[in-house]
Amino acid sequence: MDQLQQRLVGGVNSPVRAFRHVGMAPRIAAGGQGALVRDVEGRSYIDLVCGWGSLLHGHAHPVVRDAVEKRLRDGWMFGLTTTEEGRLAERIAERMPGLEQIRFVGTGTESGMTAVRLARAATGRTRILKFIGHYHGHHDALLPKAGSSALFSTLAGVPSSWIQETVCIPFNDLPALEAACDASIAAVIVEPVATNMGTVGPTPGFLQELRRISRAQGALLIFDEVVTGFRLGRSGAQGWFGVEPDLTMLGKIVGGGFPAAAVGGPRHLMQQLAPEGQVFQAGTYAGHPIAMVAGAADLELASGPTFYADLEASVRRITDPVQQRLVGHPTARLERVGTLFSLHMGSPEAYSRLFRALLDRGILAPPSPYETWFVSSVHTPAQLDAVRDALLDYFS
Ligand code: PMP
Repeated sequence: MDQLQQRLVGGVNSPVRAFRHVGMAPRIAAGGQGALVRDVEGRSYIDLVCGWGSLLHGHAHPVVRDAVEKRLRDGWMFGLTTTEEGRLAERIAERMPGLEQIRFVGTGTESGMTAVRLARAATGRTRILKFIGHYHGHHDALLPKAGSSALFSTLAGVPSSWIQETVCIPFNDLPALEAACDASIAAVIVEPVATNMGTVGPTPGFLQELRRISRAQGALLIFDEVVTGFRLGRSGAQGWFGVEPDLTMLGKIVGGGFPAAAVGGPRHLMQQLAPEGQVFQAGTYAGHPIAMVAGAADLELASGPTFYADLEASVRRITDPVQQRLVGHPTARLERVGTLFSLHMGSPEAYSRLFRALLDRGILAPPSPYETWFVSSVHTPAQLDAVRDALLDYFS
């Protein structure tokens, strides 16, 4: 712990892990099995963070582990293309047919960077339209109004000239969209279900209108499916809502808990990337074979015909009774879209109190009021019921 504080900025490598939103010392992870995560003090928690959504099948899933171990035995880093990259791209295209071609990158941030550069090159325009509270990674073009929290929404270090190129409007605000989306916009980027301001779904018809308006203005539509991809359903948010974007960002589940992300779309757009086209993009670790086999194993594990219905049923085992309990509550609200949900508590302090109460009962909720809660395919009925009961008790 001392070493962490001494040698890492804030004791962490990503700010939310510092637990500052909930005003307490962070838990330090030691291991995890299934739905349980264990800290260095030996306490176990039912994990509702699930690697911030990257663990669709919980910790140390044996199928993913076997795939990774098999790959490890014959080398793990070549700097040459491997067949695993093609195999995962194929699996993705089967599920999201709009992704005719894919470029794998390392993180969601890089996928946003790449999508923005590609959209600017393809349209010859520079401005990006995004929604307030939507997080697409920490790239300069996408950071404005990305955070709901005062702690993390500073734009220090981002040139003002960049900030001017990013137009921010409220989510689900059609008049604002109509006013802002004009012929100067290279791309509109959206989390089809917002997951970084708590969970907030699109109002009915909003994404369809977004598709129509962006197309009419010649702007590309980018769906950031870093969280929703392979979480909301087999075909992500684009399948769930029946709206096809021009470019799709993927991350998290696509690497099965290892660092991988992707941007994909129709061949004619993707072909503008190097080496076929003029838009430069590259990465030493891009398409890393370990992440490719882990991602493919994750998708394979999720390919049963009832997988997503079952996952949603698991989520609802918690959320339905809690939503019912919260009817008429003055400040707290549970918002759910399919398998995604979060508790909106009305204030950061109220969220902190809830977070601590759950932690005391052996449940790890996201240590921030602005994040989405995740249930994996291996959370057992007893574990789900323990979460439900803790929440019902809290709100009794
Ligand atoms: N997009 C969304 C919707 C995200 O939630 C995140 C990260 N939580 C990102 C992009 C950025 O991904 P990464 O942290 O891998 O850079």
